Amino acid sequence: MKPLGPIPQGYETKDGQLAIGGKTARDLVAEGGDTPLFVYSRELLDRRMADLRAAMPDRVGINYAIKANPFAPVLEHMAGLVDGFDIASGGELTMAQAAGLDPEKISFAGPGKRDAELEAAIRVGVTLNVESEGEARRAFAIGERIGATPRMALRVNPDFELRGSGMKMGGGAKPFGIDQDRVPALAKELIGAGAEWRGLHIFTGSQALSADAIIEAQANVLELAAQLADEIGEALPKLNMGGGIGIPYFSGDEPVDITAVGRALDDHIADLPAALNDTDLCIELGRYLVGEAGVYLTEIVDRKESHGSTYLVTDGGLHHQLAASGNFGTVVRRNYPLAIATKFGAEPAEEANVVGCLCTPLDRLADKAHLPVAEVGDLVAVFCAGAYGATASPSAFLGQGAAREILV
Ligand SMILES: *Cc1c(COP(=O)(O)O)cnc(C)c1O
Repeated sequence: MKPLGPIPQGYETKDGQLAIGGKTARDLVAEGGDTPLFVYSRELLDRRMADLRAAMPDRVGINYAIKANPFAPVLEHMAGLVDGFDIASGGELTMAQAAGLDPEKISFAGPGKRDAELEAAIRVGVTLNVESEGEARRAFAIGERIGATPRMALRVNPDFELRGSGMKMGGGAKPFGIDQDRVPALAKELIGAGAEWRGLHIFTGSQALSADAIIEAQANVLELAAQLADEIGEALPKLNMGGGIGIPYFSGDEPVDITAVGRALDDHIADLPAALNDTDLCIELGRYLVGEAGVYLTEIVDRKESHGSTYLVTDGGLHHQLAASGNFGTVVRRNYPLAIATKFGAEPAEEANVVGCLCTPLDRLADKAHLPVAEVGDLVAVFCAGAYGATASPSAFLGQGAAREILV
């Protein structure tokens, strides 16, 4: 037996089924048209944002990193909730524009921005979080050619990192950002050359569950930003402090104490270095805002035994749920939160392996899970599917195609 991850709060039971906003899993599949289906909940998105706003100081804006979930209805909904958006490609810029997001509230990070992407961003007034000296010069040349002033922030590669983060994005050699000691010289060059100076972006990591580690990283970010502002010799208009607040995916994971994070940030803000007195502060989050508000529903199409083990074979799999299969940046495979959605109230009664329909041993959704007895036609729910699911999985693999998505 291997434990399943913790089911996020806010999911209900109705008529013995998993329900979201009063609709059962079968209702949701009927509404979405078929399985496999991602269901995202407005109510859970709203609740998460309200809790986060209540915990964070008013002064700190909240940006949404749209790579976590760029589904158009989700973007449109998030537009009414957050203060800004972080994009990481020209494609995401197109999606953001299609969803009606205000370009002035968008910042564009990410290494390897092509000239056409830089041009599209500069034309509409998106802030570039510049990742290198070379990128800064290309952006300038493009601005000159099209007669527009680029808005530029510098993404800093800090010497420290977010302790315990699932994905390390700072500390030592990295393809992201500009090493912190080279930032002042480049900032002065850009300001001297007439860029619209938008400040700094310091992203230290992702998927951290320790409030202490996040508090420590935020303190380091504020200190570094003040030091860099002094060296640059200009007040910082804006400081994007990064994010890093994770969600519990696996057995034993605990949610981040965001009240503690907010309180510590409030203390820092009460005592900010002069260089940051008038700086616009924000954090940027992806999975924390949307991850737990989504569930992936897939139907059992076969039940079989092999050498004494039971396999529940579903019509979904890693082509939509790469992360849940354990193949998206994890070293040891552990089970995501998962349930038999059509037997949500029932007690576990057997050990079963839940697999996808792809012809590869990598396609596993749950190993040796303790579940109610499920049959062909039952629905499986994979939780924590609101982030890095549909667009972070190889949906073209084996010709299976994309899953459906709905926002309810
Ligand atoms: C991916 C990314 C995020 C979002 O990370 P989450 O772990 O989903 O919160 C935020 N900022 C930057 C720069 C990123 O690359």
